[in-house]
Amino acid sequence: MPELPEVETVVRTLEALITGCSFNDVHIHTPSIINHNESFVSLVINRPLQSFKRRGKYILLGLDESTLVIHLRMEGRFFINHEFSRPNKHVHVSFKLNDGRVLHYQDTRKFGRMLITQDVNHTLSHLGLEFDDPHFTVEYLFGALKNKKTTLKAFLLSQSIICGLGNIYTDEVCFRARLHPEKNVGTLTMNEVKAIHREIKLVLSEAIALGGSSIRTYTNAMGIDGLFQLQLQVHMRAKQPCIACGHLIEKTSVANRGTYICKHCQKR
Ligand SMILES: [Zn+2]
Repeated sequence: MPELPEVETVVRTLEALITGCSFNDVHIHTPSIINHNESFVSLVINRPLQSFKRRGKYILLGLDESTLVIHLRMEGRFFINHEFSRPNKHVHVSFKLNDGRVLHYQDTRKFGRMLITQDVNHTLSHLGLEFDDPHFTVEYLFGALKNKKTTLKAFLLSQSIICGLGNIYTDEVCFRARLHPEKNVGTLTMNEVKAIHREIKLVLSEAIALGGSSIRTYTNAMGIDGLFQLQLQVHMRAKQPCIACGHLIEKTSVANRGTYICKHCQKR
């Protein structure tokens, strides 16, 4: 699944490739990909692509008056060619650009979604702060966690207070903060919240910086294969020694997600 840094890379790549273009025509091959599709085509066509932003793991393409909101979910990806015909059965939406190129949305599992909105803040009002938002402070996080009865992992995945963390980075943040992902967030001390806050910012900014350095390799085929992000310290390292203490990393399930833990460093 693309995580925040990969989504950021897709946004920057799209910006590099199609800024100032507009869509002349749209083929919707799979209507279920698009939410509320009545006005989709009329709001998308013949409007210059003016801005390229990311909010959480959503891609926001600013057209005049409205925003095209895209979530890649598990397998969504874009690529560009010059054929407006459907290249394969996994392509669900094809956008014809005014310079003759065609931007295709491909998604083998069809979990991705797009919609057009004229009020993007309202559409994404369920999202919490970005990790680099100046309002995302230790005090804000501590206040948000107080009295909550949920596990640390479920909280980090929920997107409601801090957005953009998926399964991989949630494991990394818990490990680097030396906290068990099943810890109840309402019981965290100020020092523990400080550690979580610090690691969220470090993990995501490092991963984005690494993703950004590989933008050039994505300009021909924008698919995202594999993970180019920072060296993972715990995720996907089951039965390998912990880099801090040497105990073997274990894989378990927390918040219904495969979760990697060093039970020696991350005590409950
Ligand atoms: Zn350890």
